[in-house]
Amino acid sequence: MIRLARRILKKRRAKIISLAPSQKLQQVHQAQSPKKFSLFHFAKRVARRLLGKSAADISAINEMVDAFMAAGFNYFDTAHTYLGGESERAIRECLVKRYPRDSYILANKLSYNFINQEKDIMPLFENQLKICGVEYFDFYMIHGVSAQRYEIFKRCRAFENIIELKRAGKIRHIGMSFHDSPELLEEILTLYPELEFVQIQLNYADIDSPVIQSAKVYEVCEKFGKPVIVMEPVKGGVLVNLPDEAKRILDGLNGGSCASYAIRYAKSFPNVILVLSGMNDIDMVRDNTAFMKDFQPLSEKELEALDKVRKIIRKQNAIQCTSCRYCVDGCPKDIPIPEILACINRRIQYNSGEGDFLSGFYYGVHTKNRGRASDCIKCGKCERECPQHLPIRDFLAKAAGIFE
Ligand code: SF4
Ligand code: SF4
Repeated sequence: MIRLARRILKKRRAKIISLAPSQKLQQVHQAQSPKKFSLFHFAKRVARRLLGKSAADISAINEMVDAFMAAGFNYFDTAHTYLGGESERAIRECLVKRYPRDSYILANKLSYNFINQEKDIMPLFENQLKICGVEYFDFYMIHGVSAQRYEIFKRCRAFENIIELKRAGKIRHIGMSFHDSPELLEEILTLYPELEFVQIQLNYADIDSPVIQSAKVYEVCEKFGKPVIVMEPVKGGVLVNLPDEAKRILDGLNGGSCASYAIRYAKSFPNVILVLSGMNDIDMVRDNTAFMKDFQPLSEKELEALDKVRKIIRKQNAIQCTSCRYCVDGCPKDIPIPEILACINRRIQYNSGEGDFLSGFYYGVHTKNRGRASDCIKCGKCERECPQHLPIRDFLAKAAGIFE
């Protein structure tokens, strides 16, 4: 699979020389926005700071938006499900009210947890427009499609509805974010050729993962001529907070940040039009925009370094949790799942000494006022939400054995 990824990346080099964007959407997108990088989940992450807080927080977010826009980038991503609508409100306050509508690209999503039948879709969509304070969305996608959610979306005729909304001029481009097998992707793209793009997980740590199947999913997008938007290029921060041994390898390259190599890796694939990166503060915005302003695909030497880093991560992180927190909301026992999985990883990483002590200590901190691993009733709701398809119930049983 690594070979497959390299083959794809080599094709990228050929395309750069030809300078010929092949996809219609790419052309449209580039006409609208010359830059290829976005402020992914910007509002989702930073809006946490807005909740119940002061104008100073809004001004910090405004500063980030201003720095991002001033650097020539303009794609913003949100969803109604992020922070119970606060993300969309942050978009309205910090972006929509402060910039002309044609100066930014706004992406939003149809999330399955707000719909039960077809008639739920239009009021939800209209409400999203209202909260964001816009008349249309540039990109709108069916959110987080997996085999199970696909059944809900089909039952509610979600795809047909967003196709209709595009015809009505309320959406410029329609697509989906996708978390399942290449076979399911083929099925959906065959059934709905109107979809213009696919948002997928793609990062150098998971490129050959038999669970995520990024390279194969990417190839299906290419086969159907669908431009790709990459989510999770830094694997929820895992590829930023690298083990020391791995960090030393990247430090020995050209002085770029750990995030820069991960994001440039994702953007090096020829069919990728956007790489989405969550940025939590102004320093991250400055770092990300600096290395993406004059994007350079990874060199052979940098790719080799990432191969080594991948091996170290695999060795050290037994559980590939990205801390996306999709599993947490529906848990009837309020178990802090990602924190507990991080404690297990830490225990594996430092199986003696202070790190070992701290993993148990933090287990206590995180479960003090919330559910413990042993409270799990094995209902399986969390696993149905997990984009990494992790066997959470088994891990919790393991955590209970280690920490309780
Ligand atoms: S299986 Fe356990 S952890 Fe998962 S949602 Fe149910 S109770 Fe919570
Ligand atoms: S267990 Fe899965 S859903 Fe939960 S935070 Fe980790 S990756 Fe996300």
